[in-house]
Amino acid sequence: MKCTTIRPGYECAFMTENGCSYKGGRCYPVVEQCEGCERIKEFNGEKYCLSYPEPAIKWAHKACNFATHVKAVVDNEGKVKVNPLKASKRAARGR
Ligand code: SF4
Repeated sequence: MKCTTIRPGYECAFMTENGCSYKGGRCYPVVEQCEGCERIKEFNGEKYCLSYPEPAIKWAHKACNFATHVKAVVDNEGKVKVNPLKASKRAARGR
C-alpha cells in the first residue's frame, strides 16, 4: 500500500488502511553507513531508505543486504568484511 505519512506515494509493506503499522507508526532516517546508497531519498529535509523502515537495524550486525554502494567480501580468514564497491573495482583492476 502507498505511504501517506513520511514517504508519501511510495509503496510500503507496513502501510495499512489504519496508517503505518511500523514501530511508532513511522519509519526512521538513514544512518551513516547508508551514505552513497541509491535507495536513499529525501523527504521534508530528512533522508530515508526507500526499501527499509529502520536502516539502523539493517546495519546493526552486518552490512545491509539491500545496499547498492557496498558489497560484503570474505577475507582469507573467512571473516566477512564490507568494502565500498569503488574500492573493490579498483582492486579488481589492480590499482
Ligand atoms: S538499502 Fe540499506 S544501505 Fe541503502 S539506504 Fe536502505 S538501509 Fe541504508
